[in-house]
Amino acid sequence: MTKILITEFINQNSLENLNKKFDVNYDEKLCEDEKEIIKIIGDYDGLIVRNKTQVNLDILKNAFKLKFIGRLGVGLDNIDTEYCKNKNIHVQPATGMNADSVAEYVVSSSMSLIKKIPMFHNGTIKGEWPRTTIKSIEVKQKYLGIIGFGTIGKKVAEYSSKNGLKILAYDPYVKEINNKEIDAKLSSLNEIYEKSDIISIHLPLTDETKNMINKSSFSQMKNKPIIINTSRGGIVNESDLIEAYHKNIISGFALDVFEKEPIESEFYNKIKPGMNCILTPHISGVTTESNIRVSNFIVKKITDFFS
Ligand code: NAD
Repeated sequence: MTKILITEFINQNSLENLNKKFDVNYDEKLCEDEKEIIKIIGDYDGLIVRNKTQVNLDILKNAFKLKFIGRLGVGLDNIDTEYCKNKNIHVQPATGMNADSVAEYVVSSSMSLIKKIPMFHNGTIKGEWPRTTIKSIEVKQKYLGIIGFGTIGKKVAEYSSKNGLKILAYDPYVKEINNKEIDAKLSSLNEIYEKSDIISIHLPLTDETKNMINKSSFSQMKNKPIIINTSRGGIVNESDLIEAYHKNIISGFALDVFEKEPIESEFYNKIKPGMNCILTPHISGVTTESNIRVSNFIVKKITDFFS
């Protein structure tokens, strides 16, 4: 019987379906024990992970029978895809299955930050009643710059244009936008930095995108934008971001992803109550609905693959 190893959490119904067809070993804590994965991986034909399991060379060199890796989510930076390609191991992300969840997060966090909700909340619970000391604005007719115009970037554009935002998109791999489907304009990075009131990042983490938003990028921003990063930590330079906030170059930020996850005191000690920011633990793509969609999608793909 085909053997499948699952090292991170999966939806219960999807797991039951998988159990009917395969010999499944499910241990959602196994992602924390690389040595154990290296020890047992040689027995398995399929592997299902989220983003915590680092499917590196040490694991893959011992994966003698492995033919399929299912990724419960998107972003393949935790998998050595080059090695998999050479060894003919199929790597399957759940593309698009959590795009709505991420887009909703971007819309809600950018709205909250434009409205300075974290600052109003902080002042109000301290008894300051900051009704006139903090100023907020409307989003209508403001510019949203989207960096990385793939599945999620497009979804964010679709949601945000309905709220009256004008969308600029930067993605050198996208040659044109069908404006009948999405109301957005392809732009240079420079135009995005110069015009945007909100900048949302939807890039994969690659050698090209690592540290892509840095001191030099912030210095080109003219409209004190809100920065939203739901893609991967390391794409936005965190120290440069905090510095840009304190220098009033940007007016707020929402981070769902970080260079080090979980974040460490060196980073969170820099975040003070009253700052116009939202920090969340890599959850923008994880909702009840997306978890079901992502899990069902990977279960279907692995079932099709082995049959
Ligand atoms: P996607 O592959 O559909 O889109 C990525 C886009 O980035 C592509 O259009 C690509 O052309 C573009 N791109 C690549 N390199 C670029 C560069 N140097 N400059 C500009 N554009 C570039 O992926 P997606 O489904 O839209 O997801 C985007 C990223 O979001 C994923 O890679 C993943 O890391 C992250 N993600 C995070 C969560 C979360 O819970 N926080 C959930 C889902 C996805």
